Amino acid sequence: MKEVRILDKKFRELISEQAIQKRVGEIALQINRDFVGSEVIFVGILNGAFMFAADLFRKIDLTARITFVKLASYQGTSSTGTIMELIGWNEDLVNKNIVVIEDIVDTGATLERIVNELVIRNVAGIKIATMLLKPTAYTRDIPIDYIGFEIPNNFVVGYGLDYNGFGRNLSEVYTLVR
Ligand code: 5GP
Repeated sequence: MKEVRILDKKFRELISEQAIQKRVGEIALQINRDFVGSEVIFVGILNGAFMFAADLFRKIDLTARITFVKLASYQGTSSTGTIMELIGWNEDLVNKNIVVIEDIVDTGATLERIVNELVIRNVAGIKIATMLLKPTAYTRDIPIDYIGFEIPNNFVVGYGLDYNGFGRNLSEVYTLVR
């Protein structure tokens, strides 16, 4: 089993590059079928989803655009704590079919934030694609349409996901060794 060290932590391979690429192909096929004849705007969530978004989008065979938004956290007043703002919305999304591309859905708080933003923008429809889902951590009831892999509720890195900024370049997904 492959192991990597990132900063002070050791990680072991959870999902191989081959398994990831196979699954990305399957998801792309499904999206191509679901949206046949329609125009789609993909919305990638930075930073983590950049790799999944690139691999997936390459396999999309539709009239499609892609844009990226980023969650920027800043310190609010003491009563509100840290506020997460989604920045980078510069496409006109009104009446458009949207596929959100996420790296990982944990509690679902981020996803909920994104979906709320899209609803305000009067989009035609929203589908969610995530490479990874931690089902035992997910507390929201927003349906997730395309799931790469369901994983246990442990910290993972690789395939775009980082540990303190590092590990995003790994082609596999690794889980923290206790
Ligand atoms: P949620 O809002 O669903 O609780 O968390 C989603 C975000 O938390 C992800 O977009 C990601 O940035 C981060 N996250 C959640 N779980 C993990 C993990 O296991 N590893 C890494 N690197 N980031 C995670």
